Amino acid sequence: MKTIGLIGGMSWESSAAYYRLINQGMKARRGGHCNARSIMATVCFEDIQALQHDGRWDELAGHMQQAARQVEAGGADFVLLCTNTMHRLAPAIETVLSVPFLHIVDPTAAALRSAGIRKVGLLGTRFTMEQDFYRGRMERLHGIKVVVPEEAGRQTVHDIIYGELCHGVVRDDSRTAYRRVVERLQAEGAEGVILGCTEIGLLVGANDLPLPVFDTTALHAQAAVAMADVKV
Ligand code: GLU
Repeated sequence: MKTIGLIGGMSWESSAAYYRLINQGMKARRGGHCNARSIMATVCFEDIQALQHDGRWDELAGHMQQAARQVEAGGADFVLLCTNTMHRLAPAIETVLSVPFLHIVDPTAAALRSAGIRKVGLLGTRFTMEQDFYRGRMERLHGIKVVVPEEAGRQTVHDIIYGELCHGVVRDDSRTAYRRVVERLQAEGAEGVILGCTEIGLLVGANDLPLPVFDTTALHAQAAVAMADVKV
């Protein structure tokens, strides 16, 4: 079995979900007391979110590179970054790794393609919804058209992530707000919705939304288990 390297803490609420999912996934494959071999480097999200909102991406790249070096030095055979937003810095992370980096967009795109979805709604932080690093990879590399909520919807989705979900707070009125945003994406022709922030699965799932749901945390973790489950 290969060792999964995880860069976590963004927030730790979703890193805990990754940890549970990779271990459940490996146990489901191998049975008995098998769990996933893994190593996680956890950063302090207070520092990270402040730098994000100040737009200090160069400094953030340094933090991500340091964590990536830690997991590789700890024996990781490949590395996951347990947040969609920080994939803006995937190229910087890859420059310091000599092991593979499993990009979160790729298993998500594979699931969308196998479901036959060509136009998808994207929920995430404003960084993920508005910048090119995420939708660009989905559209140019994988050929899947991405639609995002309008300004007020993006702000609502973003504020609930940082103000509630990253603190482990789950509220019924926020679930209703997400549903309304997704109904508007559906009206624009979205055939499915990406939960493109690793905490959104804490708030909504398949039964809460009117479109098929693609949860990046679950898909990323599942892809990691498949990659790790080899006879070595
Ligand atoms: N975990 C979130 C994501 O997947 C947001 C936190 C962050 O900014 O990294 O984008």
